[in-house]
Amino acid sequence: MYVLVVEGIGTGLILEGRLYRGSRIGTGGFGHMLMDLDGPPCICGGYGCWEALASERALRRRYAELTGQPALSEREPEAADIVKAALRGSRPAIDALTQTAKYLGLGILSLIHGLSPQTIVVGGNIAPAWNIVGPVIRETVHSRFHIPSLATVEIIPSSVPTPQPSRGGGGSVVEHPGAGSRRFRRPPPGCRGNQTLVRSARLQIVTEIARP
Ligand SMILES: [Zn+2]
Repeated sequence: MYVLVVEGIGTGLILEGRLYRGSRIGTGGFGHMLMDLDGPPCICGGYGCWEALASERALRRRYAELTGQPALSEREPEAADIVKAALRGSRPAIDALTQTAKYLGLGILSLIHGLSPQTIVVGGNIAPAWNIVGPVIRETVHSRFHIPSLATVEIIPSSVPTPQPSRGGGGSVVEHPGAGSRRFRRPPPGCRGNQTLVRSARLQIVTEIARP
């Protein structure tokens, strides 16, 4: 199973070597699992979805809170910059990553209980900081298993480069490095954004499993 952490969270399930596509477009929308009725707003119009608590948006919001910066400002750093700062030892960046990783782990725990995958691959800008987020995700997951046999699931970081968002006026664009000239607009508010994330996750999965 693949979990792509970007502006939202896209997921993809590989069954018997093939990507599961479901019966209609929209498969992989686990990012909107409700985790906290009183949680932060989500692009779907709800509150407390998994991606509202564990995506790059959540990471940036926590970093802004910890550093006293106004959220969604021009000076707000990209998630990749927060990750780089954390790898350099920045305390607020490490704390923002750690808090986000806990919620990521809680969602992954539900995926494991519901689907019992053999392996979970986590992709996105947080993957290079696996020495920080990996232990938090694993500890969050392993301390809450209801079914001990599920504890053998492997949780590993993706080695595929992450599409980088370009922020600015006129709508942002995400380009997938493994998909040639294909470009994806940043998801607008509403459910269509989830399809974009799912499509991006699918492409990243295909790139991942095609690697030697
Ligand atoms: Zn949502």
